[in-house]
Amino acid sequence: MPWTRSLIARIRQERPVLLMSLLIALIALAAGVNGWAVLGLWVALIITALWHATPVANEVPLEPVGEDVEAARSLLPEVSATLAALDIPVMVLSGDASVLYQNRAAEKAFGEMTIGAHISARLRSPGILDMMRETIATNAPNQIEHSERLPSERVYIVRSAPVDLGDGQPTSERFFVLSFRDISEVRRIDRMRSDFVANASHELRTPLASLRGFIETIQGPAKNDPRAQERFLGIMLDQATRMSRLVDDLLSLSRLELKSHIAPDEKVDLVPLLGHVKDSLMPLANDVGVEIALHLPDGKAEVLGDRDELVQVFENLMENACKYGQEGKTVDVFLRNNQGQPVEVTIVDQGPGIPAEHVPRLTERFYRVSIEDSRSKKGTGLGLAIVKHILTRHRARLIVKSEVGTGTRFTVRF
Ligand code: ADP
Repeated sequence: MPWTRSLIARIRQERPVLLMSLLIALIALAAGVNGWAVLGLWVALIITALWHATPVANEVPLEPVGEDVEAARSLLPEVSATLAALDIPVMVLSGDASVLYQNRAAEKAFGEMTIGAHISARLRSPGILDMMRETIATNAPNQIEHSERLPSERVYIVRSAPVDLGDGQPTSERFFVLSFRDISEVRRIDRMRSDFVANASHELRTPLASLRGFIETIQGPAKNDPRAQERFLGIMLDQATRMSRLVDDLLSLSRLELKSHIAPDEKVDLVPLLGHVKDSLMPLANDVGVEIALHLPDGKAEVLGDRDELVQVFENLMENACKYGQEGKTVDVFLRNNQGQPVEVTIVDQGPGIPAEHVPRLTERFYRVSIEDSRSKKGTGLGLAIVKHILTRHRARLIVKSEVGTGTRFTVRF
């Protein structure tokens, strides 16, 4: 019954005062004071203490009490039918924090709960339990951020709010909504964005610092040394070229992001396109001593796409195969256009291969197996991220298979 609960809460709160008064009464009895007078005074003291005790937030009882549950449950069917349709986890609690209802999303996120059980049986977070007590005590909404580590890391904004059913609602029939807004994805994107800005700034700062250093040297110690100046100017040109490559790649990525949801609709024949890419890479292939061998079918191999973007995809993949797989001396490019099967382009090198743990991360921006190796080969770490973006827009897949010591095979499946 509500008044017994309230009395128990007050006795708990005033426990020290009650014990102290009992002790004083015992001492008075031992000292020979009249027993009836002591008892009368003691009872008066207890009544005064309990009368003036105000339950604080933490003392709002949190044990399930059957009657409350029953009373509030009668109001529940309409509310729960509405909440069942929501895709965010929601629970309805009674005034003693027992769970009256949880929707399917809540069941999925936190496991099934026995209806009528106390919320702490499932959610042990002190933050959520304190917030719930506060909301029950003050009848005002609250929210906190809550993270779960298991089974996977998730971050929620948890909100507790009283359900307003109009004035005169008895305390025992009040109920409360606990909702969980999952912000894990927003957090992940925020982190990616700030990592990206940090990486891009770092990549630009390195050549900038080197340019600055050489300019200062040319203005100072090498002022009258034409041979040193010439050498330094060569390095400066390399650094400036590296910066402009990086800026070009960054611009490419941001342009692709802008139109990522628009699927290209031009018919592109991959046979001449691959021939064109091979020709444009001949100077690089000759420099590194690699031969590019094309294996093309007879006739056309048409896909829906954007010609320039597809050139960029195959340039990146063939250039990587020449740069990182140069020990094998040959890069094979296979174009398959079999009846009833998806069009596929596979680029195979016989280089050192990529250790398995790196393969899933290759298309992340600035991810490189070896930063030094990539820099020495004029890489920016953005090539495969651009490839992935373009292929996503083309509804095509990139499949990477690599074996250390044997080589790497990148397949584009349309
Ligand atoms: P980068 O500009 O550094 O070449 P990419 O995004 O094109 O950047 O490639 C990311 C990384 O993947 C490279 O730094 C390299 O470590 C690895 N990689 C890509 N292609 C190959 C390949 N054919 N063989 C071995 N490693 C490769």
